[in-house]
Amino acid sequence: MDPALSRLLRQLPAVAELLRHPRLAADLAALPRSLSVAVIRDHLEVQRQRFAAAPIETLPGEFDLDGFLTEVAQALQAAALPSLRRVINATGVIIHTNLGRSPLAAEALEQIVEVAAHYSTLEYDLVKGERGSRHDHLEGLLQELTGCEAALVLNNNAGAVLLALNSLAQGREVIISRGQLIEIGGSFRMPEIMAASGAFMKEVGTTNKTHLRDYENAITSETAALLKVHPSNFRIIGFTHEVESPELVALARRYGLLALEDLGSGCLLDLSRYGWEREPTVQESLAAGLDLVLFSGDKLLGGPQAGLALGSREVVARLRQNPLTRALRPDKMTLAGLEATLRLYLDEPRALEAIPTLRMLTRPLADLERQARYLTRAMKRRWGTKIKVEVRPSEARVGGGSLPGAVLPSRALALELPPLASHELEARLRQIQPPIIARLEHGALLLDLRTIRPEEHRALLAALGRVIETVPTPTGLSG
Ligand SMILES: *Cc1c(COP(=O)(O)O)cnc(C)c1O
Repeated sequence: MDPALSRLLRQLPAVAELLRHPRLAADLAALPRSLSVAVIRDHLEVQRQRFAAAPIETLPGEFDLDGFLTEVAQALQAAALPSLRRVINATGVIIHTNLGRSPLAAEALEQIVEVAAHYSTLEYDLVKGERGSRHDHLEGLLQELTGCEAALVLNNNAGAVLLALNSLAQGREVIISRGQLIEIGGSFRMPEIMAASGAFMKEVGTTNKTHLRDYENAITSETAALLKVHPSNFRIIGFTHEVESPELVALARRYGLLALEDLGSGCLLDLSRYGWEREPTVQESLAAGLDLVLFSGDKLLGGPQAGLALGSREVVARLRQNPLTRALRPDKMTLAGLEATLRLYLDEPRALEAIPTLRMLTRPLADLERQARYLTRAMKRRWGTKIKVEVRPSEARVGGGSLPGAVLPSRALALELPPLASHELEARLRQIQPPIIARLEHGALLLDLRTIRPEEHRALLAALGRVIETVPTPTGLSG
């Protein structure tokens, strides 16, 4: 071995020495000893390999203990953080599936804590003093809000679709338009879900046009249902045709078939009143006579992850009796959060105010402009010319398979922090606490304000401050 290398390796501190090092004391105290030892061992090994891999002439004369301690301290701090943790969503995508979709309303959080911290009526009937069903808690509320006859809440919408197809069409055919054979993120593909459910998919029509006669011509004695799927994450524009729900329902009735709809996002409010393009509502689908309507709890609804199956008493009863329902049942925290969220919908203005997803969707541009001015001033005051901030018009998105064509006018802060390039700044922002997930657009780093709520300002500024502190002031630009 090269003498320079063996000398450096001998200078590496021992595990026990690092475990006693005063510079690491605070970070070590935050971790169980076994975890600290593992982090330190890993780091020593990484350092050994770095030395071994480096060309001899690039090796330092002395081991940089100080730099090494800084790295170990950072690794210990990182190990103390949970893997699943909050981030600041500055992407402008409101229902961001990778970032946890809908943040919950305070009312929902309170109810989750109340139910999760104590025993509850999850499966207990207080009047009779005997066993009740977890599936009964939300049905009355959903009837009230949507006019459905019956409702069942599952763990998520993918599960609800699987359960519906399995309960209603196993071993039989389900007819679906080619224009609606969707794949959404996380490998939910309609043909695959259909196969997993045991139903046989029969595609009709073409990508851009499907007519009522296409469905009708495909009906055989094996057909169980007609399925409509809301093409939630794309839009076919131009020369197109899809069959409207009332016509599809009439056809299904004529042949004694079921008409089902996977609405995807599942909106309970008429968003066109707030300047949005029309997104079909759950109420409209039910009023059109669909036997079963399925949608997510954590998309436009703004609640916890869940799958809602609403429809006729008879059809929902068939779902309930399926043993798969036991495998797909929601937990008590989901039910608590969903009930509290749905209760907010009883008063529409309150829902718009209290449910973060709806609030972000409907915030007026003037609000975002005010927010932009406030944050710009706060940054200038704190960091002077070290950071360049510029307010820019931006386009936010709904995301999560809702209103795919819709672009929301928004405002963004374009940040520059010399000497970092935009992509370097983007990466740094992801690595602080709390991480800030920004957007890179045409080489600029943008923080879109539509998804940053005022109550996050403090955390945002504190996190930004941590990045700025680590960047040396470029010479001649000190401020
Ligand atoms: C999002 C979506 C699903 C899946 O819902 P999850 O709640 O994520 O399981 C199914 N179908 C459509 C059309 C969707 O948009």
